[in-house]
Amino acid sequence: MSEDLGITVKKDTDISEWYQQTVIKGGFADYTPVKGMIVYRPNGYRVWELIMGEFDPILKAHGVQNVLFPLLIPENLLTREADHFAGFTPEVFWVTRGGDQPLEEKLALRPTSETIIHTMWGKWLQSHRDLPVRFNQWCTVYRHETKMTKPFIRGREVLWSETHTAHATKQEAEKETEWAINAYGDLVERILAVPVVRGRKTDSDKFAGAEYTLGIEALMPDGRALQSGTSHLLSHKFAEAFGVKFVNEDKKWTHAWMTSYGLSMRVIGGMLMIHGDDKGAVLPPKVAPVQVVIVPIVFKEKEKIVNDATGKIHSELKKTGLRVVLDDREGYTAGWKFNDWEMQGVPLRLEVGPRDVEAKSVMLVRRDTGQKIKVPFEKLKATVKKELDRLHARLFSKARESLVQKTVNATRMGEVKKAVEDQKWALAPYCGNVACEAKMKVETGAEPRLIPFGQKLLKDTRCVACGEEATDLVYWGKSY
Ligand SMILES: [Zn+2]
Repeated sequence: MSEDLGITVKKDTDISEWYQQTVIKGGFADYTPVKGMIVYRPNGYRVWELIMGEFDPILKAHGVQNVLFPLLIPENLLTREADHFAGFTPEVFWVTRGGDQPLEEKLALRPTSETIIHTMWGKWLQSHRDLPVRFNQWCTVYRHETKMTKPFIRGREVLWSETHTAHATKQEAEKETEWAINAYGDLVERILAVPVVRGRKTDSDKFAGAEYTLGIEALMPDGRALQSGTSHLLSHKFAEAFGVKFVNEDKKWTHAWMTSYGLSMRVIGGMLMIHGDDKGAVLPPKVAPVQVVIVPIVFKEKEKIVNDATGKIHSELKKTGLRVVLDDREGYTAGWKFNDWEMQGVPLRLEVGPRDVEAKSVMLVRRDTGQKIKVPFEKLKATVKKELDRLHARLFSKARESLVQKTVNATRMGEVKKAVEDQKWALAPYCGNVACEAKMKVETGAEPRLIPFGQKLLKDTRCVACGEEATDLVYWGKSY
């Protein structure tokens, strides 16, 4: 492979350029002639399919039903809940014409679907027996993002799962909000090997129209946080705006308690950025489009024994349910193929040459460590499975170590500033006054990312910005 076909920049030197190359050259996504909108190429979309394949059954088991609402939302619906509209207005795409005629009413490309789903629930829901109700759509949403497009991380078209629920009591809705954020956290850690922190957003950072927002955040290698999923307690605000009511057990009409939660393609970006190395992507096996690639090392006169052996290994491994590819493309050297699959992040490579066949073994190569393991034929299936598990575990523990190492416990503003300069984030006490957030932003460059669950704040702990009594410990950092 010639130099410019591979990744030409080191991850540590320029993570932004490295990320672009990893995404594009690894066949995950690419830019298109549509400004701000990327194309998901087969490797990228397959990762998303595998995420859907894992998460859709979890949603269904929880009582969530899949639906698909219209992409276009009339202006009068979007404006009905004032906070929500104010929050989203600056980034809404509007459709104003049909053919060559102006439309009677502007239509928004959905930035999120609360307004249209709640409108229909206002019509459909009648009784407490209709509750709880939970709708999910796997779809795209649109935001007129003005910052530079970063595939999977930031763009004008976002692929996601958005779930909306309505409940009879506030307690149930709160429980739902918490269930969702933990389901997201568990999913991202279990299949993407990305450790996250879980907690609540500060008031200034909550979803437009929500009572509060819970979130999961992952920490990227450059010390920036990546918001990777959010869950909102909407309480009564939307129910009042859209007339979502039901007859309760006392036979009285009352408003439903609402929630919504979403998980987007951003998690793919985070996964690529965290695990990748100077050769490109390193994929956790559970979401790898190809988990094992077999590369025959053929020499003249010996083709037949090698091809027979690799053909047999291929079909044996496929029978176990693994996603395995036999790379028997002609006209490429084995070395070229190694680089090609490494760039795409395939977890395991099996090299099979004439000598291996004679010794009844194959050479297994780990994508993450480059470690080579000679494996006898009869132990291949078990070893492949074991090494895939080990690779996942190693990716997770490495990312976990990095998260711990990049988290600074700070009690003074200078320490937060230093943490940010060192490409880390800081856990520091905060009084809850938004003026302190603005001050922190100016003085340290950091924003509040999350108030982690389960924290124990000592008495008389002082806010890192103003010195008043603190109410919470907060993660402060830069973000994507
Ligand atoms: Zn303060």
